Amino acid sequence: MATSSAKVIPENVTICGYPYSVNKVESIPVNGGELCGEIDYFKLSMQIATGQPPLHERATVMHEILHGIANHTGQIKLRKSEAYMDALAYSLVTLLRANPDLVAYLTD
Ligand SMILES: [Zn+2]
Repeated sequence: MATSSAKVIPENVTICGYPYSVNKVESIPVNGGELCGEIDYFKLSMQIATGQPPLHERATVMHEILHGIANHTGQIKLRKSEAYMDALAYSLVTLLRANPDLVAYLTD
């Protein structure tokens, strides 16, 4: 059995029952800039750029997961709102990190 480590991004994340692969990549170029993360709802994969500060990386993973949740639950307006995704991602990551008892309760 593989051991899981909280320090490493999981290679797979199930979002609304859909098995996504999670890949770390050096960069995600777009329109002359770079993205921190990206999700593909059809290939069921997400890319996370390396080199981000740890909390930022976690918020990026949550941001892409939230895009997936919004997509698979038909919340297309929400899915397209980067501002909502960012606000929810950062808030959820900090909520879960600050409340291990809550995480244990929710996942029991
Ligand atoms: Zn986004």
